[in-house]
Amino acid sequence: MSTITALQELLAQPRQIFITTHHKPDADALGSSLGLAGYLRKKGHHVTVVTPSDYPDFLAWMPGNEDVIIYERRENDAQVQDLINRAEVIFCLDFSCLNRINEMGEYIRNAPGTKVLIDHHQDPENFADLDFSNPKAAATAELIFEVIRDLGDQSLIDVGIGECLYAGIMTDTGSFRHPSTSRNVHLIIAELLDAGIDLSAVHRRIYDSHSEMRLRFLGFVLKDKLTVLREYNTAYIAITQDELRQYQSKTGDTEGLVNFALSIEGVVFAAILIDRGQAVKISFRSVGDFSVSDFSRKHFQGGGHHNAAGGISYDPLDVTVQRFLGLLPQYQTQLVTAPLAVAPP
Ligand code: 5GP
Ligand code: MN
Repeated sequence: MSTITALQELLAQPRQIFITTHHKPDADALGSSLGLAGYLRKKGHHVTVVTPSDYPDFLAWMPGNEDVIIYERRENDAQVQDLINRAEVIFCLDFSCLNRINEMGEYIRNAPGTKVLIDHHQDPENFADLDFSNPKAAATAELIFEVIRDLGDQSLIDVGIGECLYAGIMTDTGSFRHPSTSRNVHLIIAELLDAGIDLSAVHRRIYDSHSEMRLRFLGFVLKDKLTVLREYNTAYIAITQDELRQYQSKTGDTEGLVNFALSIEGVVFAAILIDRGQAVKISFRSVGDFSVSDFSRKHFQGGGHHNAAGGISYDPLDVTVQRFLGLLPQYQTQLVTAPLAVAPP
C-alpha cells in the first residue's frame, strides 16, 4: 500500500490528532502546522498543535495561532504528555530528528499513536510509521499542499490554509530565489492564488512588521558586528547576550541577519553565532557547492539543508568563535574555489 493510501485509511474516521514542529518555529514550521491543522479540522478531526517553544510575533496572524500550545511553558508539560499519549495520529512537521524537539521527542518516540513525518531536511531519522520526507522539496509547506491534494482534498484549501502554506514556501525559498524554487513550487503558488490568497498581505505581515528597535539592532549588527574574512570568502556575526538585552531582542529579531553577511559580493559562506545563555545557537548559509549541512553536522551537532543549516555549541561564545575560525583553513580550498562552480554570466 502506498504511503498516501495508508494515510487516507488512517484519516477515514475522525481522529485525535497531535501536530508538532521544530524548536523556535519559523514560517514554514508554523505555516505547515496550522495549514495542516486547518485542513484536518475541516475534515472533522480533533486537532491540537503544540510547538516546543515560542515563535516570532510576525507569525501570529496565522489562523489557528490562538489555539497553539507552547510546550516550553512548563505548566503545560503534563497536559502535553497526556495529549501525546492519547493521540491516534502524531504529525511531525519540518524537522527530521526527534532530538530537535527536546523532551517532547522522547514522549513521541514512546507514544502509541501512528507517527507521520512530513519534512524536507536531509538524513531523516527513521522513527515514523508513515514518512513523507523529501529533501528535494523547497519547504515542508510544499509537501503539505501535495499531501492534501493527493488525499483528493485540494478544494478544501481555503484562503486561511493557503496563506499559511504560502508563508512557508515564500520564506523557505528566500522569496523564490533559492535553487530549490522549482517549477513545482510555482505551480503550487498558482493553485494557492486560485484559492484566493493575498500574497502581498502575507509578505507585508512577515517582512514589514518589525519593531523600530529591531531595525536599530540590524544597524548596530551591520556596523559593528560583521566580520569579513576575504581569504576564506566567509563572513560571520557573533552576538552576545548583553547585546541582545541592550536591543530588547525578541524571538525572531535575529532571523535573516545571516543573509546580510551572505549578500556581500564574493562571500560564499556566512555564519551567525548567538549566545542564548544555555548554549550558542549558530546559523550557517552558503551559496554554491559548499555544504553547510555537512559542516554543521560534523562540527556543531547540527544539520539542515545544503545551503542553510544550523547547529549548537555549549562552549562560551568567544571559544565557539575561535573554534569556528580554527576550522576555516581546512576548508579554504573549497571556499575559494566554490564561486568558480557557478558559471559566469
Ligand atoms: P536556521 O539557521 O534558520 O535556524 O536553520 C536553517 C536550517 O537548518 C533549518 O532548516 C533548520 O531546521 C535547520 N537547523 C537549524 N538548527 C539545527 C540544528 O541544531 N540541528 C539540525 N539538525 N538542523 C538544524
Ligand atoms: Mn522548512
